[in-house]
Amino acid sequence: MDIQFYNTLTRTKQNFKPIDGSNQVRIYSCGPTVYSYAHIGNFRAYIFMDTLRRVLKYNGYELKHVMNITDVGHLESDADDGEDKMEKAAKKENKDPYEIAKFYTDIFFEDMAKLNIEKPEIIAKATDHINEMLEFVQGLVKNGYAYETSKGIYFDISKLDKYPVLSNRKVDEQIAGARVDVDEEKKNPYDFALWIKAPENHIMKWESPWGLSYPGWHIECSAMGRKYLGDEFDIHTGGIDHIPTHHENEIAQSKGLTGKVPAKFWMHVEFLQVDGGKMSKSLGNTYTLADLQKKGIEPLAYKLFCFTAHYRTKLNFTFDTALANQKSLTRLREGFIKQLKGKEKIEDDEIKEYENKFLETINDDLNMPATMGIVWEIIRNSKQSKQFAELLLKFDNVLGLDLKNSEKYLEASKNLELPQDIKELLEKRKQARIEKDWALSDKLRDELNKKGYSVKDTKDGMTVEKL
Ligand code: AMP
Ligand code: ZN
Repeated sequence: MDIQFYNTLTRTKQNFKPIDGSNQVRIYSCGPTVYSYAHIGNFRAYIFMDTLRRVLKYNGYELKHVMNITDVGHLESDADDGEDKMEKAAKKENKDPYEIAKFYTDIFFEDMAKLNIEKPEIIAKATDHINEMLEFVQGLVKNGYAYETSKGIYFDISKLDKYPVLSNRKVDEQIAGARVDVDEEKKNPYDFALWIKAPENHIMKWESPWGLSYPGWHIECSAMGRKYLGDEFDIHTGGIDHIPTHHENEIAQSKGLTGKVPAKFWMHVEFLQVDGGKMSKSLGNTYTLADLQKKGIEPLAYKLFCFTAHYRTKLNFTFDTALANQKSLTRLREGFIKQLKGKEKIEDDEIKEYENKFLETINDDLNMPATMGIVWEIIRNSKQSKQFAELLLKFDNVLGLDLKNSEKYLEASKNLELPQDIKELLEKRKQARIEKDWALSDKLRDELNKKGYSVKDTKDGMTVEKL
């Protein structure tokens, strides 16, 4: 069956086939900048990346997938403004930037494992590839696409036949300084830094023909992608924020060096919003997986929540919807166990039909909301059969919800250490019952229910269970 993916480069859904006609798909994904904890918005991007991997594997492809770890060079703005995020964090925490990078990288991969996200075949750390980056920049200087200023080596966008190609940004109409910094030494306002000369007190810096300096963020991905995947590969992924600057500049760099756009498909995941707005540190709503867990929401429930929207549409996070997904996850696990114990015989045609529908929806640009619709149909099927459970396990190769361990999760949720807010509600309800305030007691029971817990009143007191 054909696979169709939306390609930002062509702004259409296109049939996907590996460009070299082999059975291997080569993918590059922009990975985390490890200066802080990754938040649930970041993880929406990696859940999308994981689903893409799993869908390709389900279709029989092998993968060569690279994800970078940015541990140097990502400035505070995606363009050339501000301090290096790593350096800033190092100064703030009074630590070595390498220590900061290791600390947040380890936590990042722990969180990825909690989300049952497969690790790409190759993890490429920027600071391990300084030579490749330097060679790339030197190649661009040699080809006449780069020039030196007092700040560093800059890419000359006027040398390209077309810039930008991914976004609709109107570069010609842009007045220097309106949105990019005014730098008299730059030939064009949108020229960007490939290589940055390090100020005196900069910690991360390397010897280069231009003195002690460090790479720009965009050159990292171009150099590491080229090293492992070649001049042209199949898919490049990232978040929509990468379209106007980071990916645009990656394409510019590759065209300058090799004359080619590095990837055939450019796939971008839309942003997660929180309470209908932007996530930001100042609003205090950049939640981590640990924040969700404290409220009784498992990482896998967050993954299930991400499947409620197509990756190219905005998704709005609220704790209420996440809790509703926690309940759905429990129902999914219970439904799976029920099917596992079922004895009915299902006709091959019925199984085949489900399989076809499933393949159709995942291959339609990863339409996970429709895919989950099929999964729920099977769970709710009035017939109960081990064959359905086996089918669900097969589908779980794409979903990655760890259904095979359903029993274990259900068991664990019964013996769960209760989150603080639940403990407080239970305490209040206990008090309400002592004071015979039945209305308040009922109200608190409903509230607990909404948060995913059921309470029962027995002669020995209250019992509580996760729904
Ligand atoms: P960073 O570590 O800041 O480079 O971001 C890592 C990944 O998360 C990138 O692919 C971003 O595009 C993506 N990302 C950042 N914020 C969000 C968000 N709110 N929703 C979805 N993806 C995001
Ligand atoms: Zn990148």
